Amino acid sequence: MTTPVIAVDGTAASGKGTLARRLARELGYAYLDTGLLYRATGFMTLSLYPAREDITEELALEAVQAISPETMENPALRDEETTQRASKVAAMPLVRAALIEQQRNFAKNPPEGAGGAILDGRDIGTVICPNADHKIYVDADVEIRAARRVKELLERGDEAIHARVLQDMRERDARDSSRSVAPLVPADDAFIMDTTRMDANAAFAAALEFISKRNESKA
Ligand code: C5P
Repeated sequence: MTTPVIAVDGTAASGKGTLARRLARELGYAYLDTGLLYRATGFMTLSLYPAREDITEELALEAVQAISPETMENPALRDEETTQRASKVAAMPLVRAALIEQQRNFAKNPPEGAGGAILDGRDIGTVICPNADHKIYVDADVEIRAARRVKELLERGDEAIHARVLQDMRERDARDSSRSVAPLVPADDAFIMDTTRMDANAAFAAALEFISKRNESKA
Protein backbone atom coordinates (compact mmCIF):
# COMPACT_ATOMS: atom_id res chain seq x y z
CA MET A 1 0.00 0.00 0.00
CA THR A 2 1.33 3.45 -0.82
CA THR A 3 1.50 6.25 1.73
CA PRO A 4 -1.32 8.80 1.42
CA VAL A 5 -0.18 12.19 0.12
CA ILE A 6 -1.95 15.53 0.28
CA ALA A 7 -0.77 18.37 -1.96
CA VAL A 8 -1.55 21.91 -0.84
CA ASP A 9 -0.58 24.55 -3.39
CA GLY A 10 -1.38 28.20 -3.73
CA THR A 11 -0.34 31.81 -3.66
CA ALA A 12 1.74 33.57 -1.00
CA ALA A 13 -0.07 34.34 2.26
CA SER A 14 -3.21 32.56 1.05
CA GLY A 15 -3.29 30.55 4.27
CA LYS A 16 -1.99 27.34 2.69
CA GLY A 17 0.83 26.87 5.25
CA THR A 18 -1.48 27.27 8.24
CA LEU A 19 -3.99 24.93 6.62
CA ALA A 20 -1.41 22.29 5.70
CA ARG A 21 0.15 22.29 9.18
CA ARG A 22 -3.23 21.92 10.81
CA LEU A 23 -4.31 19.10 8.51
CA ALA A 24 -1.01 17.33 9.22
CA ARG A 25 -1.61 17.56 12.99
CA GLU A 26 -5.21 16.38 12.65
CA LEU A 27 -4.37 13.40 10.42
CA GLY A 28 -1.02 12.46 12.01
CA TYR A 29 0.82 13.12 8.74
CA ALA A 30 4.31 14.53 8.30
CA TYR A 31 4.44 18.07 6.90
CA LEU A 32 6.93 19.61 4.49
CA ASP A 33 6.97 23.34 3.72
CA THR A 34 8.63 23.16 0.29
CA GLY A 35 8.88 26.96 0.07
CA LEU A 36 11.64 26.68 2.67
CA LEU A 37 13.82 24.81 0.17
CA TYR A 38 13.60 27.71 -2.31
CA ARG A 39 14.01 30.21 0.50
CA ALA A 40 17.15 28.38 1.69
CA THR A 41 18.51 28.44 -1.87
CA GLY A 42 17.80 32.16 -2.19
CA PHE A 43 19.34 32.80 1.22
CA MET A 44 22.52 30.88 0.32
CA THR A 45 22.94 32.90 -2.91
CA LEU A 46 22.75 36.08 -0.80
CA SER A 47 25.32 34.75 1.70
CA LEU A 48 27.72 33.23 -0.83
CA TYR A 49 27.55 36.00 -3.44
CA PRO A 50 26.42 39.12 -1.55
CA ALA A 51 27.65 41.56 -4.19
CA ARG A 52 25.91 39.89 -7.14
CA GLU A 53 22.52 40.93 -8.42
CA ASP A 54 22.79 38.68 -11.49
CA ILE A 55 22.75 35.19 -10.03
CA THR A 56 23.26 32.59 -12.75
CA GLU A 57 21.73 29.14 -12.68
CA GLU A 58 25.16 27.59 -12.01
CA LEU A 59 25.70 29.82 -8.94
CA ALA A 60 22.20 29.04 -7.70
CA LEU A 61 22.94 25.34 -8.06
CA GLU A 62 26.07 25.77 -5.92
CA ALA A 63 23.83 27.48 -3.38
CA VAL A 64 21.50 24.45 -3.33
CA GLN A 65 24.48 22.21 -2.60
CA ALA A 66 25.62 24.50 0.24
CA ILE A 67 22.31 24.22 2.16
CA SER A 68 22.84 22.64 5.59
CA PRO A 69 20.34 21.61 8.28
CA GLU A 70 21.22 24.90 10.08
CA THR A 71 20.29 26.92 6.97
CA MET A 72 16.79 25.46 7.17
CA GLU A 73 16.40 26.78 10.73
CA ASN A 74 17.61 30.32 10.00
CA PRO A 75 14.92 32.95 10.78
CA ALA A 76 16.35 35.07 7.93
CA LEU A 77 14.67 32.68 5.49
CA ARG A 78 11.50 34.73 6.11
CA ASP A 79 13.12 38.12 5.36
CA GLU A 80 11.75 40.08 2.44
CA GLU A 81 15.09 40.09 0.61
CA THR A 82 15.29 36.30 0.86
CA THR A 83 11.65 35.97 -0.18
CA GLN A 84 12.17 37.89 -3.41
CA ARG A 85 15.42 36.06 -4.17
CA ALA A 86 13.68 32.73 -3.49
CA SER A 87 11.10 33.35 -6.21
CA LYS A 88 13.90 34.30 -8.66
CA VAL A 89 15.93 31.12 -8.08
CA ALA A 90 12.69 29.09 -8.08
CA ALA A 91 12.22 30.01 -11.75
CA MET A 92 15.50 28.24 -12.66
CA PRO A 93 14.98 24.75 -14.10
CA LEU A 94 18.28 23.36 -12.68
CA VAL A 95 17.37 24.54 -9.18
CA ARG A 96 13.92 22.96 -9.38
CA ALA A 97 15.38 19.73 -10.74
CA ALA A 98 17.92 19.60 -7.89
CA LEU A 99 15.16 19.85 -5.29
CA ILE A 100 12.69 17.33 -6.74
CA GLU A 101 14.08 14.14 -5.28
CA GLN A 102 14.12 15.36 -1.69
CA GLN A 103 10.44 16.35 -1.95
CA ARG A 104 9.37 13.09 -3.60
CA ASN A 105 11.30 11.06 -1.01
CA PHE A 106 9.51 12.90 1.77
CA ALA A 107 6.15 12.09 0.16
CA LYS A 108 7.06 8.45 -0.35
CA ASN A 109 8.71 7.82 3.02
CA PRO A 110 7.39 10.40 5.48
CA PRO A 111 9.73 10.70 8.49
CA GLU A 112 9.14 9.12 11.88
CA GLY A 113 6.74 6.54 10.53
CA ALA A 114 3.98 9.11 9.95
CA GLY A 115 0.85 7.70 8.34
CA GLY A 116 1.01 10.06 5.37
CA ALA A 117 2.59 13.22 4.02
CA ILE A 118 1.38 16.75 3.37
CA LEU A 119 3.50 19.00 1.21
CA ASP A 120 2.73 22.63 0.60
CA GLY A 121 4.11 24.71 -2.24
CA ARG A 122 3.35 25.82 -5.78
CA ASP A 123 3.79 22.70 -7.91
CA ILE A 124 3.10 19.79 -5.58
CA GLY A 125 -0.13 18.65 -7.24
CA THR A 126 1.10 19.38 -10.77
CA VAL A 127 4.78 18.28 -10.80
CA ILE A 128 6.12 16.83 -7.55
CA CYS A 129 3.24 14.51 -6.65
CA PRO A 130 0.84 14.44 -9.61
CA ASN A 131 -0.71 11.25 -8.18
CA ALA A 132 -1.40 12.77 -4.75
CA ASP A 133 -4.54 11.37 -3.10
CA HIS A 134 -5.91 14.85 -2.45
CA LYS A 135 -5.01 18.17 -4.03
CA ILE A 136 -6.00 21.51 -2.59
CA TYR A 137 -5.31 24.87 -4.18
CA VAL A 138 -5.61 27.93 -1.96
CA ASP A 139 -5.89 31.52 -3.14
CA ALA A 140 -7.28 34.84 -1.87
CA ASP A 141 -7.56 38.41 -3.06
CA VAL A 142 -4.07 39.92 -3.26
CA GLU A 143 -5.02 42.96 -1.10
CA ILE A 144 -6.17 40.63 1.67
CA ARG A 145 -3.04 38.50 1.37
CA ALA A 146 -0.84 41.59 1.61
CA ALA A 147 -2.75 42.75 4.71
CA ARG A 148 -2.22 39.32 6.30
CA ARG A 149 1.51 39.47 5.53
CA VAL A 150 1.78 43.01 7.01
CA LYS A 151 0.12 41.76 10.21
CA GLU A 152 2.49 38.79 10.36
CA LEU A 153 5.56 41.02 9.85
CA LEU A 154 4.42 43.52 12.49
CA GLU A 155 3.82 40.69 14.96
CA ARG A 156 7.42 39.60 14.36
CA GLY A 157 8.56 43.15 15.11
CA ASP A 158 9.50 43.90 11.47
CA GLU A 159 8.63 47.18 9.84
CA ALA A 160 5.99 46.72 7.13
CA ILE A 161 4.35 49.15 4.74
CA HIS A 162 1.19 47.82 3.10
CA ALA A 163 1.86 49.36 -0.34
CA ARG A 164 5.37 47.92 -0.46
CA VAL A 165 4.29 44.45 0.68
CA LEU A 166 1.45 44.52 -1.87
CA GLN A 167 3.83 45.45 -4.68
CA ASP A 168 6.33 42.73 -3.69
CA MET A 169 3.55 40.18 -3.52
CA ARG A 170 2.23 41.14 -6.98
CA GLU A 171 5.76 40.81 -8.40
CA ARG A 172 6.20 37.42 -6.76
CA ASP A 173 2.77 36.17 -7.94
CA ALA A 174 3.62 37.26 -11.49
CA ARG A 175 7.04 35.54 -11.41
CA ASP A 176 5.64 32.34 -9.88
CA SER A 177 2.75 32.16 -12.37
CA SER A 178 4.61 33.08 -15.54
CA ARG A 179 7.81 31.02 -15.24
CA SER A 180 8.34 28.40 -17.93
CA VAL A 181 8.98 25.52 -15.54
CA ALA A 182 6.43 24.37 -12.95
CA PRO A 183 4.40 27.60 -12.92
CA LEU A 184 1.87 28.24 -10.20
CA VAL A 185 -1.40 26.84 -11.60
CA PRO A 186 -4.07 24.70 -9.96
CA ALA A 187 -3.96 21.01 -10.90
CA ASP A 188 -7.00 20.02 -13.01
CA ASP A 189 -8.27 17.83 -10.18
CA ALA A 190 -7.59 20.26 -7.31
CA PHE A 191 -10.21 21.43 -4.81
CA ILE A 192 -10.02 25.21 -5.16
CA MET A 193 -10.43 27.29 -2.04
CA ASP A 194 -10.75 31.07 -1.96
CA THR A 195 -9.91 32.19 1.58
CA THR A 196 -10.62 35.90 0.99
CA ARG A 197 -13.60 35.76 3.34
CA MET A 198 -12.61 32.68 5.32
CA ASP A 199 -10.74 32.50 8.59
CA ALA A 200 -8.32 29.68 9.40
CA ASN A 201 -11.01 27.61 11.15
CA ALA A 202 -13.42 27.82 8.21
CA ALA A 203 -10.64 26.90 5.75
CA PHE A 204 -9.63 23.92 7.89
CA ALA A 205 -13.24 22.69 8.15
CA ALA A 206 -13.79 23.00 4.37
CA ALA A 207 -10.55 21.17 3.52
CA LEU A 208 -11.24 18.39 6.02
CA GLU A 209 -14.75 17.92 4.62
CA PHE A 210 -13.33 17.69 1.08
CA ILE A 211 -10.79 15.04 2.18
CA SER A 212 -13.34 12.98 4.17
CA LYS A 213 -15.90 13.01 1.34
CA ARG A 214 -13.31 11.90 -1.21
CA ASN A 215 -12.05 9.18 1.11
CA GLU A 216 -15.65 7.93 1.60
CA SER A 217 -16.34 7.95 -2.14
CA LYS A 218 -13.13 5.99 -2.79
CA ALA A 219 -13.81 3.42 -0.05
O1 C5P B 1 5.66 29.22 0.01
P1 C5P B 1 6.65 30.35 0.17
O2 C5P B 1 6.03 31.70 0.02
O3 C5P B 1 7.50 30.22 1.39
O4 C5P B 1 7.65 30.15 -1.08
C1 C5P B 1 8.68 31.06 -1.38
C2 C5P B 1 8.94 31.06 -2.88
O5 C5P B 1 9.43 29.77 -3.26
C3 C5P B 1 7.69 31.25 -3.75
O6 C5P B 1 7.44 32.62 -4.07
C4 C5P B 1 8.00 30.48 -5.01
O7 C5P B 1 8.72 31.26 -5.92
C5 C5P B 1 8.93 29.39 -4.52
N1 C5P B 1 8.28 28.08 -4.43
C6 C5P B 1 8.16 27.33 -5.58
N2 C5P B 1 7.66 26.07 -5.52
C7 C5P B 1 7.27 25.53 -4.36
C8 C5P B 1 7.36 26.30 -3.16
C9 C5P B 1 7.85 27.59 -3.24
O8 C5P B 1 8.50 27.82 -6.65
N3 C5P B 1 6.83 24.28 -4.33
